[in-house]
Amino acid sequence: MELSQRIKNITPSQTLAITAKSRDLKAQGVDVISLSAGEPDFNTPDEIIEKTYEALKAGQTKYTSASGITELKEAIIEKMKRDNGLDYELSEVFVGTGAKHVLYNLFQATLDPGDEVLIPTPYWVSYTEQVKLAEGNPVIMETDESTSFKITPEIIDRHVTDRTRMLLLNSPSNPSGMVYTEEELRSLAEYLEKTDIVVVADEIYETLVYDHPHISIASFSDKMKSNTLIVNGVSKSHSMTGWRIGYVCGDSDVVKGMTALSSHSTSNPATPSQWAALAAYNMDPSYLEEYNRTFKERRDKAYENLMEIPYIDCIKPEGAFYLFPNFAECARQCGFDGVDAFVEAVLEEVHVAAVPGSGFGSPDNIRLSYSLSIEDMTEALDRIRKFVEQHS
Ligand code: PLP
Repeated sequence: MELSQRIKNITPSQTLAITAKSRDLKAQGVDVISLSAGEPDFNTPDEIIEKTYEALKAGQTKYTSASGITELKEAIIEKMKRDNGLDYELSEVFVGTGAKHVLYNLFQATLDPGDEVLIPTPYWVSYTEQVKLAEGNPVIMETDESTSFKITPEIIDRHVTDRTRMLLLNSPSNPSGMVYTEEELRSLAEYLEKTDIVVVADEIYETLVYDHPHISIASFSDKMKSNTLIVNGVSKSHSMTGWRIGYVCGDSDVVKGMTALSSHSTSNPATPSQWAALAAYNMDPSYLEEYNRTFKERRDKAYENLMEIPYIDCIKPEGAFYLFPNFAECARQCGFDGVDAFVEAVLEEVHVAAVPGSGFGSPDNIRLSYSLSIEDMTEALDRIRKFVEQHS
C-alpha cells in the first residue's frame, strides 16, 4: 500500500535499528556485546513496582485526564521547585507517554508549516524527524570537538532567520554526554532573552551528571522561564524507560494545545505508569546518588579503556551514559571508507554493537553507551582495540 508523503519523508530511528540487529545476532547465539543501549541497565527500583501494584489493587486502572493525574503534576511541580528553583502552576504541566511523545505533541501543537527549529549537532535522532512530521524545518547547527559539541551565541546567530521559532537544547546531551556549565548557559540566555525564540530544553538526563551540576536555562530570568519549555521524565532518572512517562513544564497555552491533541490521539498516558512515576518522585533521592556513583565509575573506566584505542580522539563526557569518540582517523587507518562501514565491520567481526554518529548528524563519531557492567564494557573496548590493531 502507498505510504503518505509525511511518512516517506522521515528516517526510521537508527538507534532502535542497531539494537534490533544486535538482538538478532544474540538470538542466533552470537556473543554480542552491545554498547548501543539508550537506557539504564538496572531494573526499576522495587519500591516503585510495589507502589504501582498497590495503586492497581486500589483501582487505578481507568482513564485519567488527558494531561495526567493531579497528584503526579503536583509531584512534578515540587520537583521543579526543589531541583531547578522554578515555580509552575498545574495548568503549566502536561504529562505524556514518555518524553518522546511529549516532544512530538509539543512540535505538533506549536509549529506551523515552514517554521524553523534550530537543532545543534550531534542531536538525538528523533528531533529532526519530529519537526518534519509537524511540517517544520529543522535547521542544523553543526558543532564538533572544537566547542566541546556545544553551541555559542555566535553559532546561533549565524542560523537565525525571520522564520526561526525554536531552539533545541539538550543538556546533558545524548549522544555527546556534554553538560553545559552555568557560564555557558548564562551567555546563551543573555543572547536568547533579546529574542522571541522558544527554547525546548530536553533535560531528560538531568540527574546523570558527574562533574558539575545540571542547571536549567529557564532558571536564569523570568523572560527565559516564559520562553522555555522544559521536557523531562522518569525514563533515565529512575530506570523506567518501559513505563513511558514524560512531561513538559511551561506556557499554559502550549499545555492546553498539547492536551487537546492528546485527547484525540493517545488520551492519558497509562494510568498505572503515572502512579509509578509518582512513586518515583516520592522516593528517597539517595537512590539516585548510588545510581550516579555506579555510572561515574563506569564512565571513568570506559574513558580510560577507550583512550587506549589508537587514532581516536574523545572529549571526556560529563553526563548521561555515552562516550562520543571521533573515529574518522581510526576508520581511515583501518582502510574503511568512513565510520559507518567501520561500525558495521566491528559488529560483524568482533561482535560489538555501537551506534554510528551519522544518525546524530556527526558522521565522524561513534556513540558508545556505558550502561552495562564494567566487565562487559572492558571486554567490548578490548575487542575494538584489537580489531583496530589488526586492521591498521
Ligand atoms: N530525549 C533524549 C535526548 C533521549 O535520549 C530520549 C530517549 O532516548 C528521550 C528524549 C525520550 O525519552 P522517553 O523514554 O521518556 O521517551
